[in-house]
Amino acid sequence: MGEFELIAQYFSKCGTARSDTAVGVGDDGAVLQVRDNYDLVVTTDTMVVGTHFFPDDDPRALGHKLVAVNVSDLAAMGAEPTWLSLALTLPVVDEAWVSAFAAGLHETAEYYNCQLIGGDTTRGPMSLTMIAKGIVPRGKALTRSGAKVGDYIYVTGTLGDAALGLQLCQGRHDVSKKHQTHILQRFHYPSARVALGQALRNIASSAMDLSDGLYSDIQHILARSGVGASVDVARIPLSQAIKDSCDTATAMQLALSGGEDYELLFTVPEAKRGSLDVLLSPYGVAVSCIGRITGVAGKLELKYGEQAFPYQHTGFTHFG
Ligand code: ADP
Ligand code: MG
Repeated sequence: MGEFELIAQYFSKCGTARSDTAVGVGDDGAVLQVRDNYDLVVTTDTMVVGTHFFPDDDPRALGHKLVAVNVSDLAAMGAEPTWLSLALTLPVVDEAWVSAFAAGLHETAEYYNCQLIGGDTTRGPMSLTMIAKGIVPRGKALTRSGAKVGDYIYVTGTLGDAALGLQLCQGRHDVSKKHQTHILQRFHYPSARVALGQALRNIASSAMDLSDGLYSDIQHILARSGVGASVDVARIPLSQAIKDSCDTATAMQLALSGGEDYELLFTVPEAKRGSLDVLLSPYGVAVSCIGRITGVAGKLELKYGEQAFPYQHTGFTHFG
């Protein structure tokens, strides 16, 4: 099967057929009808074999994850996902693999109401790059730079599950039978907090998604906003699966340094805090307050209740 048959068969009708796509896959470029008074948000994420996934990983899960991690960046910006592009590099065309990967892409793109509108297909070591586009009412995008001293710090969902899932896959950590499905699901099929991200547009002062782990990710908000933070690690939300599978120190390590949870981290000014629970209750995702923004620029203070929390960071960096 050649490149063009491959594209026609698997990637020409992928995701939702949106009415604001004037020209999609098949031309030299896509033509997109961006709404009046909206800003376009664009983000890119790459998954490389050996770095982000194993060669024998389920291709359907890879298709899902590629869309979800890109859409998660849009969610963190408060944007509505609209269009996706795919740069696909494969060593060989294994049709069973491509078919399952495309199915994962399709079902997840459709779930988030976005459409694959183009890409590039090349031969080489396996690499999956996606560019996602979304729209947000003009000036309403959430950024990392708006946190102010005194703001409350929140996270969605629970942290550390994906990192535990990775350890389970690697045989480095055991998880009891009843929790395995949940933990593996969190690792292979992450959810992007799209509806919640949009609901935060008029509430949050800053926001980002958690892809590298809370400890390293929160530093981006501190740097961009020129503030510090005090976080009570005892208030970090943990799943029952983590609580049942790990001692407290391990659970904290996973929650602070484990990547790929794709939950949202955001800050809320005191004045908007009262309405938060009511405003976010329809979204069915728990939000937990874990600390406050302080005035000591760049400083992250970790506490466990009232005590200092000693912590040795072990997060992953590509060139660290
Ligand atoms: P060009 O040579 O003009 O860059 P290509 O021949 O590479 O175009 O691609 C033909 C069409 O197929 C284009 O519309 C391109 O966006 C699309 N396309 C190529 N690869 C993919 C892919 N993996 N997924 C989706 N669309 C793709
Ligand atoms: Mg061309």
